[in-house]
Amino acid sequence: MWWMMQCEDSHVWWRLVEEGLSEPPSEDLRCPEDGTEAIVAMRHPLADRVTVALVPAAWEREGKIGFRDQYFLEISSSRSSRTLRSARTYSWDKAVERLSWFKDIDWESAERRWTRGDFTKPE
Ligand SMILES: [Zn+2]
Repeated sequence: MWWMMQCEDSHVWWRLVEEGLSEPPSEDLRCPEDGTEAIVAMRHPLADRVTVALVPAAWEREGKIGFRDQYFLEISSSRSSRTLRSARTYSWDKAVERLSWFKDIDWESAERRWTRGDFTKPE
């Protein structure tokens, strides 16, 4: 949960605070510029945005390592506790390019893009 604080001199600061706390820890309520107490502390829940990950596909057997530059793509939503992992693997560069499809979008849009891409098809 983001919290936005403001002191009486109109300084504004933001802190990401653990979910479930009714207010930020006292050190976060002190203005970073002049040390005075916040007069405003306002919650801003995290928006529904997709988390993306590159998951290494490398294997290791008898001292040999294979699939060194192959990665599964994974997208997940903390809000709906859902995760999708690609059926195929991508090189690092290709995977980074694909992950940009999921920049700044909500889970519903992400699922639509996932279905339109080649993520569900094995190589
Ligand atoms: Zn201040």
